[in-house]
Amino acid sequence: MEKVYDIAIIGAGPAGIGTAIEAFIFGIKDILLIEKADNHSSTIRKFYKDNKRVDKDWMGQKVECEGNIIFMDGTKETTLDLFDRLLDKHKIDTEFNTEIEKIEKKGDIFDIETTDNRQFKAKNVVISIGKMGKPNKPTYKIPPSIKQKVNFNLDSCSQGEKILVVGGGNSAAEYAYFLADSNDVTLNYRRARFTRLNPENDKIVERYADEGKLRLKLGIDIESLESEHGKVKVNFSNNKSEIFDRVIYAIGGTTPTEFLRKCGLNIVGKKVEVDDNFETEIPGLFAAGDIVTDTGGSIAIALNHGYRIAKYIKENR
Ligand SMILES: Cc1cc2nc3c(=O)[nH]c(=O)nc-3n(C[C@H](O)[C@H](O)[C@H](O)COP(=O)(O)OP(=O)(O)OC[C@H]3O[C@@H](n4cnc5c(N)ncnc54)[C@H](O)[C@@H]3O)c2cc1C
Repeated sequence: MEKVYDIAIIGAGPAGIGTAIEAFIFGIKDILLIEKADNHSSTIRKFYKDNKRVDKDWMGQKVECEGNIIFMDGTKETTLDLFDRLLDKHKIDTEFNTEIEKIEKKGDIFDIETTDNRQFKAKNVVISIGKMGKPNKPTYKIPPSIKQKVNFNLDSCSQGEKILVVGGGNSAAEYAYFLADSNDVTLNYRRARFTRLNPENDKIVERYADEGKLRLKLGIDIESLESEHGKVKVNFSNNKSEIFDRVIYAIGGTTPTEFLRKCGLNIVGKKVEVDDNFETEIPGLFAAGDIVTDTGGSIAIALNHGYRIAKYIKENR
């Protein structure tokens, strides 16, 4: 007989880890955490720069942690350490390198299918796959010859490059001033001023710009990219062009609607429709974290979703 888990959680980011740990603490026995990357928290690993400051009240969203996980301001590394410790201590069953393609309810049990045709079964399923699996891309085409030079995180960056960072949020600001210490960096935002930066980032960007360590290109959009001798020629809306070694877009992520719809979920605007207990229209199927928030979401918000779902499942299902 195939094992039937009490809860299967799809996506091991803060919402998934939060659900798993809180469920364990509530005494729920058979918990399975499934993650498509080779380790947990792939958004944090891939999109946060090393030593990035991690704010609990991210983007001014004040949150009181409701559950048992003590999450405080820290860095990328302390946050990953916290999740490592929690997963080790509570001995959660984890399947890494496992991408879920489809979830279907048959009677009272969910069939969970992976992209490599494996199957898991669970009484309750929590989808917590975040939005950064699909970073937002510009509307204009990126010529194939420069695709390696156009990135959506810091993975391919080295030193001494002329880099254009595109975006007006905290991620763009943090990428820009981090890279500016060892590269020639311009930060481009289509609006005339930053309105979404937290006070700390606002101050750092201003200081770097004043000290000439970071160039700001505000109120100017990008119209197209071209390849010029393997470098990126950026054509701006003011009819000027400039050549860069690399362009990095930090313009957020997109709700993975195709997958979510395939699982039978209703999407309203940019988020999955859930009730007050984070349950979808399908009883026993829950959604948590960034995919149920209109705004950017945050780690603390995601952890709270996990706590509420675990509590609800313990008390009601
Ligand atoms: C650059 C940047 C900086 C940020 N800084 C902060 C900060 O300082 N403080 C803060 O509170 N928040 C910050 N945030 C926001 C925070 O990272 C998110 O709100 C949080 O990670 C959301 O958690 P989540 O679990 O919903 O999704 P995610 O963290 O995105 O986790 C989703 C997980 O699901 C996995 N997954 C996706 N699809 C599948 C699938 N089909 N099958 C299996 N697994 C799958 C992914 O690989 C990933 O590991 C930042 C975000 C970014 C991009």
